[in-house]
Amino acid sequence: MIADALGRSLRNLRLSVTDRCNLRCEYCMPEDEYQWLPREDLLHFEEISSLVDIFVSQGVDRVRLTGGEPLLRRDLPKLMAMLSAKHGLNDLALTTNGILLADQIDALASAGLRRITISLDTLRADRFKALTRSDELARVHEGMQAATRVFPSRFKIDTVVIKGVNDDELSDLIEYGKAVGAEVRFIEYMDVGGATRWSPERVLSRNDMLALLSERYGTIAPIVEDSSAPADRYQLGDGTTFGIISSTTQPFCSSCDRSRLTADGMWYLCLYATQGVDLRAALRGGVSADQIASMIRGGWTARDDRGAEQRLALGDRRAFVPVKALKKDPHLEMHTRGG
Ligand code: SAM
Repeated sequence: MIADALGRSLRNLRLSVTDRCNLRCEYCMPEDEYQWLPREDLLHFEEISSLVDIFVSQGVDRVRLTGGEPLLRRDLPKLMAMLSAKHGLNDLALTTNGILLADQIDALASAGLRRITISLDTLRADRFKALTRSDELARVHEGMQAATRVFPSRFKIDTVVIKGVNDDELSDLIEYGKAVGAEVRFIEYMDVGGATRWSPERVLSRNDMLALLSERYGTIAPIVEDSSAPADRYQLGDGTTFGIISSTTQPFCSSCDRSRLTADGMWYLCLYATQGVDLRAALRGGVSADQIASMIRGGWTARDDRGAEQRLALGDRRAFVPVKALKKDPHLEMHTRGG
């Protein structure tokens, strides 16, 4: 296990398999046009698999497929099967918006998918449309039903909470989670690249979320656990659990063991990092697996990133990356990096 400059292990790898998405969430992809990664730059499955082998050799034992919308990547179950066959990977998960899930879930589960997280920010069709510029809420519900069938009580729902947009739905979402057998995790609105409409006034903090929820549910008990997972978990009186990811007001940089590989092979050591390591160039340039392993080791041991804490320390905080800079370098976008 290798540790970075702040003593954090390299364990979790988030693999973005595409920068494309079938939603245009206002907190992630609000612009009309995007600069997409060139198709020829996208890693082939064999290349992803080779890089994952090297990451696993350096201590990574958890992989999550993400994007963009990962289910837009053709033949994803094939990649899933390649990854699930690897020794040393203890966790293989997927984050999706759920729209294409009902059609693909059986193939993904047969290929070795073990856990799933579905993003859903609202239960109201009009809001869903306003928030995502899509009419597909019914298909997300179908995806949830499919997840209930295939991963009973083993899936999560991620909800980005925005003040004045969906902060009146927290308890509705918890009830929905109970009905479908999922644990809901509320995510504070983050000023990541791509969140060009972010402002501090639109963030509902963890404390505010807890206050709102206790109005409905009474006492909420924190669950004490030793974990590097980003969510702090809580329990309601009836035993229902939920999580809050407070990356904006109470970041978890000190325990962050995540890094991200984009669909074109750039490796980022922090969600807020502006520079990455070009592993595609190394792989396609004929650099040996041992040398790539040494690049990864070197990158990780030098890692002293704690982007969310540094953002928090800023007094006057606005969107992290201006639209102009995003257009020049799509790697700065959350949807490229993999949320
Ligand atoms: N398309 C997939 C999905 O919808 O889950 C995977 C990619 S998406 C970028 C991954 C996660 O990032 C989603 O749960 C999304 O809500 C979250 N996300 C994107 N922008 C965010 C922001 N500004 N603040 C907090 N979470 C954000």
